[in-house]
Amino acid sequence: MTKKTTTVEATTTYKLNVEEVRKDFPILHRQVNGKPLVYFDNGATSQKPQQVIDVINRYYQHENSNIHRGIHTLSQEATDAYEKARTTVQQFINAQHNHEVIFTSGTTGSINLVASSFGKKHIQAGDEIIISTMEHHSNIVPWQMLCEEKGAILKVIPINEKGELLLDEFKKLLSPKTKLVAVTHVSNTLGTINPVKEIIQLVRQHNSTLDGNVGGNIPPSGGQRGAVILIDGAQAVPHTKVDVQALDCDFYAFSAHKMFGPTGVGILYGKEAILNELPPYQGGGDMIKTVTFEKTTYNELPHKFEAGTPNIVGGIGLAAAIDYMNHIGIANIEAYEHELLNYATHKIKKIEGVRIIGEAANKASVLSFLVDGTHPSDIGMIIDKLGIAIRTGHHCTEPLMNRFNIPGTARASFAFYNTKEEIDTFILALERALKMLK
Ligand code: PMP
Repeated sequence: MTKKTTTVEATTTYKLNVEEVRKDFPILHRQVNGKPLVYFDNGATSQKPQQVIDVINRYYQHENSNIHRGIHTLSQEATDAYEKARTTVQQFINAQHNHEVIFTSGTTGSINLVASSFGKKHIQAGDEIIISTMEHHSNIVPWQMLCEEKGAILKVIPINEKGELLLDEFKKLLSPKTKLVAVTHVSNTLGTINPVKEIIQLVRQHNSTLDGNVGGNIPPSGGQRGAVILIDGAQAVPHTKVDVQALDCDFYAFSAHKMFGPTGVGILYGKEAILNELPPYQGGGDMIKTVTFEKTTYNELPHKFEAGTPNIVGGIGLAAAIDYMNHIGIANIEAYEHELLNYATHKIKKIEGVRIIGEAANKASVLSFLVDGTHPSDIGMIIDKLGIAIRTGHHCTEPLMNRFNIPGTARASFAFYNTKEEIDTFILALERALKMLK
C-alpha cells in the first residue's frame, strides 16, 4: 500500500488529513498475514486512538480506585473523572441533565435495562411493542423475551427492497395498545440511516390522539399512556451528530467500542421523568439510599440504575474517545466517510455479479454485498490472507437476512481513518478472490 498523504478537502465545509489521523491509531500500522492491515470491520468494533489508550493506561497507573464510596484522595479523583465522563457524554448527545446518562455495559445492556425495567412496570398482556425488520438481535430478543413473559405482542415494521422502512406501514401498526417503539438509527447490515425524527414525531402525534393523553408519554393524571420510543444508536453515534433533545426520543442506546472507545461500556440515555418512575434494573451497591432487612430505599438518578462497581476506566475511556471525535469534528467524520462510501460503492458496482444489499437513499458508511456464485465467507477468508478485514455472515440480523432471502452478506464498513487507497487494495483483492472462486 502506498504511503501517500491524502488530504481531503470538500468544497467548503471540511478538512481531514487522513494520514495524520492514522498516526493516532497504532494498530493500523501492523501487518496481517504479511500485508499492511486494511481494517474494514468498523461496524463490529472500531480501533482506538493512542489518546484513548493513554487515558486507560494512566488511569490504572495513577488513579485506580473504587468510586462514590471512598473518602481518600484516589477514590475522589476516580469519582471526579468518572462523573466528568458522564458530563462529557451528556454534552456529546445534548441531554438536558447529566443524570439522564446511565453507564451500562453497552447497547445490549442498555436495551435489556429498558426491556426489564420498563417492561416490569408498564407492559401487560395484550400490549404491543413495535420494532423493525432491520433490527440487530439485541433490539429483537429482549423484546421477544418480554413479550413471552408478559403475553405482549411484537409487531414489525416492514422494509422495501432498498432497505428503507415503510413509514405508511408503520403508521398502520400504531394502536392504543402500542406501549413501546424500538428502532435502530442506522442499520449495521444495510447502512440505512432511518428517519428517526419523523418516526418519533409520528409516535408523538399518535399519542396525542389517545384519550386523556396530552401528547407526552406520561399522562398528567391517569389518562391513557402513550408509546415510548427507544432508539438503538450503536451505529449512528460513531458517524453522525446525535442530539437527543432535538430527536425527542425517550431512550437512546449506544456502545463505546464502536466509537473509538473501550469495550464493555455503553450508555443508556433516558428522559428524566421516565427514568424516575421506573423501578431499578439490578440490585446491589451504589443503587441504594438506605438498606435494612425490612426495607430498602433506592438512590437517585443516575445511580439507581448503576448497581455495583461499574466499568470505571471504560467510562473514562469513552469520554476520551468523545474528546477525540470532537477534535476531529463530527461533521468532518460524516462528510469524509460519505465520500469513502460513494467511492467504494462506485468501484464495487463495476465488478460483474456484485449485488449490493442496502441501497437506501440515506446511508452511513456500510457496504454489504454478495457476488453471484460465491459464498461471502469464502470471500472473507481469501481477502483476510491479503490483510483485509471485512465481516461476513448475518451480522446479528437474521430476520433481515430472511427478508432478503439470503444467508448472509460480506460487509465492508468504513471509519474516518480508512482511505481510498485501502478501498483500491480491497477491490483488487476482491477481484483476485473472485477469480479463484469462480
Ligand atoms: N445494535 C446495533 C445496530 C449494532 O450494530 C450492535 C453491535 N453490532 C448492537 C446493537 C449491539 O452492540 P453491543 O454488542 O456493543 O452491545
